[in-house]
Amino acid sequence: SSKVDRDRGEVNIQVLLRCRPLSDEEQKCNVPKVITCNEHKREVTILQNVANKQVDKLFTFDKVFGPKAQQRSIYDQAIFPIVNEVLEGFNCTVFAYGQTGTGKTYTMEGGMRNKGGDLPAEAGVIPRAVRQIFETLEAQNADYSMKVTFLELYNEEIVDLLAPEDNTRLSDERQKKPISLMEDGKGCVLVRGLEEEAVYSANDIYTLLERGAAKRRTADTLLNKHSSRSHSVFTITVHVKQSTVGSEELIKYGKLNLVDLAGSENISRSGARDGRAREAGEINKSLLTLGRVINALVEHSGHVPYRDSKLTRLLRDSLGGKTKTCIIATVSPSAHCLEETLSTLDYAHRAK
Ligand code: ADP
Ligand code: MG
Repeated sequence: SSKVDRDRGEVNIQVLLRCRPLSDEEQKCNVPKVITCNEHKREVTILQNVANKQVDKLFTFDKVFGPKAQQRSIYDQAIFPIVNEVLEGFNCTVFAYGQTGTGKTYTMEGGMRNKGGDLPAEAGVIPRAVRQIFETLEAQNADYSMKVTFLELYNEEIVDLLAPEDNTRLSDERQKKPISLMEDGKGCVLVRGLEEEAVYSANDIYTLLERGAAKRRTADTLLNKHSSRSHSVFTITVHVKQSTVGSEELIKYGKLNLVDLAGSENISRSGARDGRAREAGEINKSLLTLGRVINALVEHSGHVPYRDSKLTRLLRDSLGGKTKTCIIATVSPSAHCLEETLSTLDYAHRAK
């Protein structure tokens, strides 16, 4: 259920919680579990040891997915309606937020494609969204066009994951293609210097995704912790022709941003709670600012600090106003992750 709020207008931010299963390794070592999910009641309970006493802490979200939840059921329940909104001309964003190793990339990407073209059961949000968009438009016999961008934000710098080799920051500083963020007069965000690929089939998009994902993996081997510190943003824009009146074409325009955020361990618990930066440098400016922006939108507190980070500037036309947002917070059930899990639950809960 999207959040219809508090007599002050509608806030279309949904917050879901997903807890991954214990890994084989963790099971072998008998790692204790401290998380219990009640999907029906949309509750998560975390077991803490406070002053030698076991204390339960309970959090409620718009939806809760336990360790057994399948990729497909998360998609059908939470993402399918959002993608329909995109096809109706809305700008929408899905975020994966959580500690490194809790399943953000699994949730967003998962398995991409099988031989023969159909999606595997482990396919995540991105390939399923791509399939839904194409299937829906084809079924409507729509006259449409579609473009894709795939970028990464690292240290408040934009790296184009679809740029031809040699044009990336990591391969050669001197050949770096300048990428700049701008806004047109109508509040639309423009990213100058970014490869924008026209796509004609789901397979086209899967190819681009694989290309971008391979680039992230390369970056990871070159730079320690790269992927856990960077945000990746995959954006699909769809233009659907509605009708022609005289010489005027009516076009519906929608945009879907699919964002795999930097690991939340990069901000401290207090940072997650009150939104105050605790880390030196720029690594998590975007993560912290995103929390503040969402908080300001949820609280209707007037000033929304979009301009304070690259990520929020980039997503400005897709956050707040007539847009839909879904945050999938991912956690591990393991006792070893307790502090980070609490931090994620706090952050995600503030966004509700
Ligand atoms: P992150 O992107 O948050 O760092 P990953 O998506 O890489 O985490 O997940 C870490 C590991 O856990 C991967 O091996 C992934 O396949 C596995 N994993 C994560 N979530 C699930 C899940 N819900 N079911 C099964 N395996 C999962
Ligand atoms: Mg990841």
